[in-house]
Amino acid sequence: MSESSVSDVRGMSVAAAFAGMRSVAPVVFKAGCPDCRGSFELTANALRLAIGASSRSTFYSFTCPDCGAAVRKPAGERIVELLTGGGVRTLRLHTP
Ligand SMILES: [Zn+2]
Repeated sequence: MSESSVSDVRGMSVAAAFAGMRSVAPVVFKAGCPDCRGSFELTANALRLAIGASSRSTFYSFTCPDCGAAVRKPAGERIVELLTGGGVRTLRLHTP
């Protein structure tokens, strides 16, 4: 058995990006736009994560590269882990 079978970095999904976190390859997140229904890949720099007091006020946002719409989506615990682990800039809305 080989140690790992990382073959196609270009087609990375979120899961693959998470699994490949130890590598130096840039992490790419797949995202979709509700406005133009475009589907695209975003680097950590293009995403922002806002963590609120509750999970209902925790969301991530990005600007659609296709139509320029500001997209905001709720982020569950798992997504928060993915995004912070991938180096996405995090903003804490609620400071204790
Ligand atoms: Zn769009």
